[in-house]
Amino acid sequence: MPAAARQSPVFRFAPSPNGPLHLGHALSAFLNRDMAAATNGHLLLRIEDIDLMRCTPEFERAILDDLSWLGIAYERPVRRQSEHFDTYADALERLRAMDLVYPAFMTRGEVKAHVAAYEAKTGETWPRDPDGSPLYPPLDRQRSASACAALMAAGTRHAWRLDMDRAAPLAGNGLAWSETGDGETGRLAAEPRRWGDVVLSRSDAPSSYHLSVTIDDALQGVTHVVRGLDLFHATSVHRLLQALLGLPEPVYHHHRLILGPDGRKLSKSLDDTGLAILRENGASAADIRRLVGL
Ligand code: GLU
Repeated sequence: MPAAARQSPVFRFAPSPNGPLHLGHALSAFLNRDMAAATNGHLLLRIEDIDLMRCTPEFERAILDDLSWLGIAYERPVRRQSEHFDTYADALERLRAMDLVYPAFMTRGEVKAHVAAYEAKTGETWPRDPDGSPLYPPLDRQRSASACAALMAAGTRHAWRLDMDRAAPLAGNGLAWSETGDGETGRLAAEPRRWGDVVLSRSDAPSSYHLSVTIDDALQGVTHVVRGLDLFHATSVHRLLQALLGLPEPVYHHHRLILGPDGRKLSKSLDDTGLAILRENGASAADIRRLVGL
């Protein structure tokens, strides 16, 4: 159904096929399904496979198998992000036309070295984003257009990053989102500056998570984003991109995370919280619901 024709709420489960699903994904999928059912809404499935190096068709098939085993039905067609790189490139082009992005040439290693040198020299801590990664240094942002063009003409690998100093003020002071999840709730202030110059496309992936998730939620008419609290702070970036690109604002619900026995967030490594392993060991969908506390 075209997004514009839908009147009722639209939810989506959006896993990345870069590893096997675990209990945390099951909680997300169940909550999306339950909330869609409770509101007479729609449930969509989106495969977030922009990372062409790590995502595989086998992991995607395993996701579909796990969902069918859990009894979670979703509407077709399934949106596969790798089939829509042109759409994300168009959005990037719009931001480029607004002079809000710049080519970024530093590798992860170079950023790390730059930050370490700064911290050693000044004794000060380089600012980190909410995930703990250092903010991208301002060196590339200050490069002249002709210097950028020369580097690109020479084939230097580069990403495209959002110029946060230019972009954030365009959204005004009141940028916020409505949150109904398991952490802080209500109308919450978005703080995109905490992320610095976020990456919007990479040399090895034509779009970034932030860009594609924002575009797709709008294109698919998603009205309710239900996902783990690990993505709570990322919402600030998504709200900024929505404001810059004139996209509608969904309601957000960030749910509790399922932690491993060590108290850490579950990883996609094959351990005893993997859904396929639990299934092989005889667990039922009802057992999984109980295991995730539903
Ligand atoms: N693809 C993301 C993940 O698997 C989820 C993205 C989202 O729900 O916004 O963690």
